[in-house]
Amino acid sequence: MKPPPFTYHAPRDLPGALRTLAEVRGKVLAGGQSLIPMLNMRLAAPEHLVDINRVAGLDGIEAGRAGVTVGALARHADVERAGVHPLLTRALRLVAHPVIRNRGTVVGSLVHADPAAELPAVLAVLGGSVRVARWDGRVTVREVPAEEFFVGPMESAVGPGELAVSAFFPALGEGVGVAFEEVARRHGDYALAGVCAVVTPDSARVACIGVGARPVVVDLDRGAADHRGGADRGGADRGGCRDWREAAAAVRDVTDPEGDIHASAAYRRHLVGVLAERALRDAAREGAAARGA
Ligand SMILES: Cc1cc2nc3c(=O)[nH]c(=O)nc-3n(C[C@H](O)[C@H](O)[C@H](O)COP(=O)(O)OP(=O)(O)OC[C@H]3O[C@@H](n4cnc5c(N)ncnc54)[C@H](O)[C@@H]3O)c2cc1C
Repeated sequence: MKPPPFTYHAPRDLPGALRTLAEVRGKVLAGGQSLIPMLNMRLAAPEHLVDINRVAGLDGIEAGRAGVTVGALARHADVERAGVHPLLTRALRLVAHPVIRNRGTVVGSLVHADPAAELPAVLAVLGGSVRVARWDGRVTVREVPAEEFFVGPMESAVGPGELAVSAFFPALGEGVGVAFEEVARRHGDYALAGVCAVVTPDSARVACIGVGARPVVVDLDRGAADHRGGADRGGADRGGCRDWREAAAAVRDVTDPEGDIHASAAYRRHLVGVLAERALRDAAREGAAARGA
C-alpha cells in the first residue's frame, strides 16, 4: 500500500515547526518507524506531515547529575550507544531491530504510546517527564510528568499543534539495581508482556507493559519491602526468592490484560507475574552487588 496524499512541510527551526503545526494541525514526522507503516496501511490519513528532521538543536543527549535529557531527534541507537542511563540503555536493546533503532526516536516512541513499548515503562518507573511545546504567538513549553503523559493506548498528552521537544529520565541513585525482562514471540517484536524494575535498599517499583492501556506502575508497599530483606542482602536465591515471588504475585494481581490473537489474557497475566519476579530478583541482586552487600 502507498500512503494517502498529504502536504509535506520541512521546517528548519523550532519556531517554524511550531508555527506550521499551529496552522495546519498536521502530524509530526520524526523517525517515521511507526507513522510511515501506519500511513501505508491507511490506519492514519493526516492531510499534513510536519517533518522535524531538519530542525536544528533537537538531537541532544545531555547527562547531568539529576538525569538525562533526550531531545526529540535523538535516535534510539544514539541514546543506546551513549550509555548514559543503565535502565534506558537496557530497554533500548529490546526495542525492535538495529535498523529501526537507527531511525526511530526515543521521544517519538513516548508520544506514540504503544502499550507494549519499552520506553514509556522506563519513563513511568523512573517518574520522568516530557517537555511539550506549542506556538502561542511565541514558543511556549509545558512539562508533563510521566503519570499524566500516557493517556491511553496509542494516546499521549501531546495535543494537536504540539511538539514534544525532549524527555527527562531521572538518574538512579547509588547502589540502585534495575532490570528489564520481557517475552516477545520473535526477537525484535513488540513484547507480549514485560516488566522493568527499580530496586533500592528501601523500595521497589515496577512498570509493566503489554498488560494495560498504558504502563502499569506498581509501588511495592512497605510490607513487601520488608519481605525483601533476604534479597537486598544479596540472598535473592535463598529467602529473597520466596519473598520476591509474593511481591511479583501482588504485581500480577493488579494487572488486567486483554487477550488478542497473540496471547490470551490469562497467559499475559501469568507471564507478567513470572517476569516481575525475575526483574525484581535481578534488580535486587544488581543493587546489592553495587553496594558490596
Ligand atoms: C517492525 C517494527 C518493530 C518495532 N518494535 C518495537 C518494539 O519492540 N518496541 C518499541 O518500543 N517500538 C517498536 N517499534 C516502533 C519504533 O520504536 C518507533 O521508532 C517508535 O515507536 C516511534 O518513533 P519514531 O521516531 O519512528 O516516530 P514516528 O513514527 O515518526 O511517529 C510516531 C508517532 O509519534 C508522533 N511523534 C513522533 N515524534 C513526535 C514529537 N517529537 N512530538 C509530537 N509527536 C511526535 C508522530 O506524529 C506519530 O503519531 C517497532 C517498529 C517497527 C516498524
